[in-house]
This record gives sequence, C-alpha cells and structure tokens, in this order.
Amino acid sequence: MNYLSSASVDVTYRCNLRCRHCFDFGGECAYEEMNDDELISVFRQLALIDLSSICICGGEPILRFDLIRRAVRLVKELNRGTLVSMVSNGILWTEEIADALKRDGLDLVQFSLDGLSDASYDHVRLSNGKLHRVLDAIKIARRHGIRVAVASLPHAMNIREYPSIISFCEKEGVSDFRAQPLMPLGRGELNYKDLCLTPEQNDALAAYLSARNAVSQMQITWGDPVDHLYMYRETGRIPQICVNAYGELSVSPYLPITIWNLNRNTLQDYIDLEIDRYALRHPIVEKCLARIEELSDFTSIQQGLPVLFKERNIDISQELEDAARVHGGKLRKSSQG
Ligand code: SF4
Repeated sequence: MNYLSSASVDVTYRCNLRCRHCFDFGGECAYEEMNDDELISVFRQLALIDLSSICICGGEPILRFDLIRRAVRLVKELNRGTLVSMVSNGILWTEEIADALKRDGLDLVQFSLDGLSDASYDHVRLSNGKLHRVLDAIKIARRHGIRVAVASLPHAMNIREYPSIISFCEKEGVSDFRAQPLMPLGRGELNYKDLCLTPEQNDALAAYLSARNAVSQMQITWGDPVDHLYMYRETGRIPQICVNAYGELSVSPYLPITIWNLNRNTLQDYIDLEIDRYALRHPIVEKCLARIEELSDFTSIQQGLPVLFKERNIDISQELEDAARVHGGKLRKSSQG
C-alpha cells in the first residue's frame, strides 16, 4: 500500500510581498531555483504516484504563471484523481488568471487573509493598501468555480476581526478556513515579539474557532504546525513529500534538512529505498524531532543548524542512500550513474 498521501512543491521563493511573518523569507531568494523543465519533471514524477493531493507553493506561485499552468495540466492528464491546489497571496489574481487555471484543472486555491481592514492586513503584509485585491481574488476564484480555502495569521492587530473575517469567508463560499499561529522562523522570528499573541489570546481564539466550526458550513481549524512531526514520531514514516524550489526533499518545510535530492535521483528511488524510514532514524533528524514539543522549539533547534531558506540545508541524502543500499535497497537503473 502507498504510505504517501500528499506533496507540496515550492515553485519559487520570489514574491510580490515582503510579509513580516514570512517563514521562508519570501522575496529574498538566495539560490538558483529549478528551471521550468526541471520543475515539470518533478510534477511528472509526483503525478505518477497515487497521491491524494499535490499543492503548488511559494513564494507567490503566480510569478511563474506559465509554469504552474503546465504543471496543473500535466498532473491532471496523468492522474485525474489527484487534487491539485495552490497557495497564493491573491494580490495578482485576475479574471483571466482564474479562467485559465480553472480550464487547466486547478481544484483549489488557498488565499491568505489576515484582516478585513487595511490597517490589520498591512500590519503583517506591508502591501500598501492591497487588501481589496485579496477580497476580490476570493470572489473571482469562486465565480470561476474554483474551490477556495483561506489561511489566516492571528496577530495582535486582527484578533478582534476574526468573527467578521469568518463571516466574510462563509458568505463568499470559502470551504476551509485555517488559522495558523505565527512560526518563529524566517522574518516571523525577527518580528515575533511584535506579532505574536499571548497564550491567553491563543487559547481564547482556539476556543472561539472550535465553537464557530460547530455551527458553520465552512471547515474551521486551528492549525498546529507541529502536528506533522508528532505523526512522524508515532508512525516512523513521512507521508508528505516536501520539495523545495532547488529540487530537494526536506524532512519538513520547517527544518533545514535535505533527505533526498531530485537533481541526482528519482522520486521512485526515494520510495523504493524507503528513504523516509532511514531519515527518521538519522541522528540529526532524531535529535530535532525529540526536541520539538511546541512552536517555540523551532527557533531553539535552529541553534547549530543552517538558517532556514537563507543558508543551504544540511544534506544527508547521500548518507541515507548509502544506508538504504547497505540494507539491500538498489537504485533503479534509470538513475544509477
Ligand atoms: S508570506 Fe507568502 S505572500 Fe508573504 S512574503 Fe512570504 S511567500 Fe510572499
């Protein structure tokens, strides 16, 4: 049985915004990203696995619009059953973009909406009054029949707006609303003190969201970015494939550790060799996972590790490949040097 459920692919770290909470330093890309053909090869490999969903992530993916159109069409041609989604800040969306992506087969777009007033939105997004573009993007995508999800960062300036933000999303037919706490990573770490909620505010918001979810037609969740690491520890497997814009598979989007490199080997090799099992037993990964119990631990574990998205990841992919080979795994002929 296929243990893999989903994949995310960062198609770029370029961005039209410079949000103060951005964990991947969007807009400050430090290294050369995969070109279109390399990215299409990644999407082809992903489409050939029986995944329930593939998410196109960034940066702002719309900045590689032609590429994401090719990627959506390719995945849908090869595997119609895989849900194809993308994340976007929404500011660049137009009727033409929504129409094209709908025709290509995009199933879902997740927009970021962190406020209903320019003051609260721009407290983190620094967009200079572009909130209206995001509100329009939600309506445009819905008009074109694309399912819309919303991700939202609760912070000191928008916390009182949450009932109105949720009401707006319900009215516009948003299917999923996810509030995700501030990650103490990237620019989010630099601005943590200014943006983060108190523990009491966090608890009150989580309780409000839970109560509201019970009476809403929308799925409302309080996203905990640590959850996936608990699951890794419990199951000993990594069910998600996280591909960064350089063609590396990370152990988690929030940890600077590369466990496989698609510039060298194929995704099928990663699966056949069960590299994820070896990754979770590697001392560096074990040490990180053992130390992360809550969000604030992401920052402290950075001590001694590269700065996520600013410096090159620690690459343990060759070690994992060697370990898998010793235990009898063999790379497929296609990728043997
Ligand atoms: S949070 Fe998203 S929209 Fe903001 S800078 Fe980062 S990638 Fe861009």
